[in-house]
Amino acid sequence: MFTHSRRNLTWWFTLSMGSILLMFSGVVYYQRVAYQLEAVDRLLYKKARVIAASIEYEETAADFEPINLDKAPLLGNTPPPADTEVFYARWYQPTGQLSHFFGPSPPEQLEQGPAFQTLQWPTDNASNSLSFGSAVTYAPLQLRQITLPVHHQEQVIGYLQMATPMTPVQESLRQTLMGFAITVPITLGVIGLTGWGLSGLAMWPIRKSYQQLQQFTADASHELRTPLATILSNAQVGLLAPGDRTAEKHQRLEKIVTATQSMNKLVSQLLLLARHSDSLNTQTLQTVDLNSLIKNLLESEPICTAAQAITLSATLPDAPVWVEAEPDLLHQAIANVLSNACKYTLEGGWVKISLSKGARSAWIQVADSGIGIPAADLPHIFERFYRVDKQRSKATGGLGLGLAIAQQIVQAHGGDIYVSSELGQGTCFQVELPY
Ligand code: ATP
Ligand code: MG
Repeated sequence: MFTHSRRNLTWWFTLSMGSILLMFSGVVYYQRVAYQLEAVDRLLYKKARVIAASIEYEETAADFEPINLDKAPLLGNTPPPADTEVFYARWYQPTGQLSHFFGPSPPEQLEQGPAFQTLQWPTDNASNSLSFGSAVTYAPLQLRQITLPVHHQEQVIGYLQMATPMTPVQESLRQTLMGFAITVPITLGVIGLTGWGLSGLAMWPIRKSYQQLQQFTADASHELRTPLATILSNAQVGLLAPGDRTAEKHQRLEKIVTATQSMNKLVSQLLLLARHSDSLNTQTLQTVDLNSLIKNLLESEPICTAAQAITLSATLPDAPVWVEAEPDLLHQAIANVLSNACKYTLEGGWVKISLSKGARSAWIQVADSGIGIPAADLPHIFERFYRVDKQRSKATGGLGLGLAIAQQIVQAHGGDIYVSSELGQGTCFQVELPY
């Protein structure tokens, strides 16, 4: 129970901290992208300004070309430096007509777009007209492009378009992502471990007070057994004693015996619940054959008595089915489920018990054609002292502890109990026990 809650706490802690971590990483990554892009744009703009500043403009006759790009880096006569980061540079006339270029052959007409753009190279229309030789295929390249209108005395004299590869930026972002891919899982692992430790700390006082409560119940139940046994034996001796056997006195003694017997049952069941609240001590476990355990159970006196007015049948495999268990406790758990099936099945009805082997667990199924359990009560029937119909259970003498004990025993063995029921049709309990 506590391990389950601790695991839940750890899981939710890791999930919430993990989400915060992922959100934080996302924001950091986004900021890094924005910062790197801004740096590229700034550099591109600076380079474009240098080229633009070296363009000479002469106002001459209308039919004479007024722009002189001779001294402009990349576009002019001087050969471009070998280590230039500029992928292409283009000069367009104010009409948008291509005039000069450096790099792969550009479109003849200026394509209007935003001042800064991220493009893929080769573009669909450019890939057909690559000037670097058609036999070579190029991996798509991300480019950052600037289109800068160049002015002279507030008049546009042309457009300078330049682009630089984004490879260094992409490489840096790839490294950032790689860093996240390594650090995020490690941090999540550390968060998980921290969560496990913290939830252990948080559970400690709860576990301690629960154990104290269990200890108290166990001690009180144990201490009550002796006086109860004394009362019972005295009342039974009183019933047997010769002498004054007036009906009233006899009746009173019988009432004392009945009340003490039911208190005895309650006390033993509370003791059982208190003693086996955690998982079992592995040293007390034995290898138990479920097949013979069920056969013995079917032959036991309480079940035979309970099944008198109904048809009780069993489907058991030929071979033994071994599980690690405490045989007496397991016997008690299955007996509780089976006696319920007999108790809550009307005369003439049937109860079937079967045993089967699964991949990892053995399954015991107890089905009956009894009165069934309303859907609203199903989630509660394993609670202590819970009875569906108080009137009905009073008549059958139930305390509402049988299923709570069965569930606790089965869970202490690492298994679980599942129930499905239809009101007026019958109920089916399935007990899962790991090998
Ligand atoms: P106790 O077992 O302590 O003598 P109980 O049988 O009333 O008393 P549980 O065995 O815990 O208590 O069962 C809880 C309730 O679930 C029962 O009161 C009964 O209403 C319902 N129940 C359990 N098994 C069946 C079943 N096979 N068919 C119909 N109702 C059932
Ligand atoms: Mg019961």
